[in-house]
Amino acid sequence: MTVFDHPLAQDKLTQIRDKDTSPDQFRRLVTELAEMLMVEATKTLETKEVKVETPLAKTTGLRIAEKITLIPIMRAGLAMLEGAHRVMSGAGVGHIGIYRDKLVNNTVEYYFRLPSNVKGHHIFLLDPMLATGDTASAAISRLKQYEVGPITFLTLLSSKPGMERIQKEHPDVKVLTLSVESELDDRGYILPGVGDAGDRIYGTVDH
Ligand code: URA
Repeated sequence: MTVFDHPLAQDKLTQIRDKDTSPDQFRRLVTELAEMLMVEATKTLETKEVKVETPLAKTTGLRIAEKITLIPIMRAGLAMLEGAHRVMSGAGVGHIGIYRDKLVNNTVEYYFRLPSNVKGHHIFLLDPMLATGDTASAAISRLKQYEVGPITFLTLLSSKPGMERIQKEHPDVKVLTLSVESELDDRGYILPGVGDAGDRIYGTVDH
């Protein structure tokens, strides 16, 4: 687990914590944060040397050698997709819709679509909140059924219990976050957190 403590990112995190930040500003900040996290998370990607011809001379350069797939966990993870795509425009995209249902006391998957061949792909899983770890752990287990390559989880905030759960159940998964927060409230919200990320992004309320 790595905490990304870049001052620009921490400044934006403080702005999204503010309850008076509008959905419009919130979405823009989440896009910018996702872009920054993606740059940081890809700094160890494998590269290969290739030949390239400039208008003036022949030389060599580096290209990314790994195949990349970005996977937002719906719905809040969708807000991180554009920022991640900005630095990886050629990456494939999958979607996972999963939530924790209080009545059945389990996670429920309602949507799952991946590009046709993700075997060996480096997966960047996007979800602004790692709270209890239930949905993150279930999404990771599901992806492993497809023999994907390394999985990196990009999240804005993580709870300590959620982080420990992922480390225990999926020690191979790298987690990059802006802050690890010690508490969850009795509804599973991270404290101090940002509130319900989906509601903050889309300006919705819990009916
Ligand atoms: N999901 C959210 O949107 N916020 C939290 O604090 C926890 C889970």
